[in-house]
Amino acid sequence: MRVLRAGQVFDGERFVGAADIAIDGGTVVDVGPPREYASEVSVEDLVDVTVLPGLVDAHQHLTWDCSTDPLGWHQESDDEALLERGRANARQALAAGVTTVRELGGRGLVTVSLRDELARDPSSGPTLLVAGPALTTPGGHCWFLGGECPGESALRAAVERLAAAGVDVVKVMATGGTLTPGSLPHESQFGVAELRAVVEAAHAAGLPVAAHAHGTRGVADAATAGVDTIEHVSFMTADGVAQDPDLVGRLVETGIPLSITGGTVPGPVHPAIAARLPALQEHFRGLVASGANCFCSTDAGIGPAKPHDVMVHGVTQLVSLMGLPHDRAVAMSTSRPAAALGLSDQAGRLARGMPADLLVVSGRLDEDIEAILRPERVLHAGVVVRGPGQ
Ligand SMILES: [Zn+2]
Repeated sequence: MRVLRAGQVFDGERFVGAADIAIDGGTVVDVGPPREYASEVSVEDLVDVTVLPGLVDAHQHLTWDCSTDPLGWHQESDDEALLERGRANARQALAAGVTTVRELGGRGLVTVSLRDELARDPSSGPTLLVAGPALTTPGGHCWFLGGECPGESALRAAVERLAAAGVDVVKVMATGGTLTPGSLPHESQFGVAELRAVVEAAHAAGLPVAAHAHGTRGVADAATAGVDTIEHVSFMTADGVAQDPDLVGRLVETGIPLSITGGTVPGPVHPAIAARLPALQEHFRGLVASGANCFCSTDAGIGPAKPHDVMVHGVTQLVSLMGLPHDRAVAMSTSRPAAALGLSDQAGRLARGMPADLLVVSGRLDEDIEAILRPERVLHAGVVVRGPGQ
């Protein structure tokens, strides 16, 4: 057993002050106030740091190249090239302290292979949940991943195929998106009947459903169909953003987990997003304030502003752009997404019995949210993947 003694610890929900974190192998065996230990226990006193659970990014595209042309990237790359890119992106995410990633759209079954490969070595990347190709309409949003389904029976068959191939979650494109030529984010691709077919088939196979939905009708239909998370939830219209108070009321009432897309690095943003940015920020502020079950995820991989370590900017921007208190912002990036993904006993919290997935940052995160941008050490399943002892 070894002990990390930190001046500040965040347990997944709140800052608890100075604490000892005892680790045995890959597991946290105790978190509590600093105390004495038997002489054979190594206690490492970490000065001026905050220790928090590894970040949980519930929406990434690990095999994408962060260019402005994802269609071109997929057309010019064979599966080995996608896999190689996925390995590098996974290392980048982990080095920033993202220890759990839900992969929501890669071509074919490449991401299933990537998940199984990374699971053999905790230092190679985060723990992954993968969807394989997102299910979409013929020629619809992200058709180039290979998940085109013309109707209900094709959707059910595709879910069964993906379940047999070992995916962890089913992703469906309820609406169009900004990055596929010819696709419009505010327009629905599937209605309630088709989304319900996906949910029924997935739940029958023991899998949750993540629905991509920008337009208000797509968000409403995804909620009605009973999906497990709604991605983006941007309430986009043809030329802006229009929050629908009745629908927000329904989302609050049902408590359905909402995966709010956040986190960008300085640089060009997709023009369709840039034009709507002030309205989107206002919308998200209102959604979070409404009491809806929101958490932060990034959509990493889809463009130059979205590298795979961008989650740390998501944390700071929840504070700087949305005015959230520090503990809430960090919880929305650790314990809240973990709960939404059904991983409350595997990720997002620092407590006895949890995997030793830890991020150690320089400074006091409760006072300075930008401390999250200064990682000193990252542990994944007890293995030091960044910092001394690596
Ligand atoms: Zn996405």
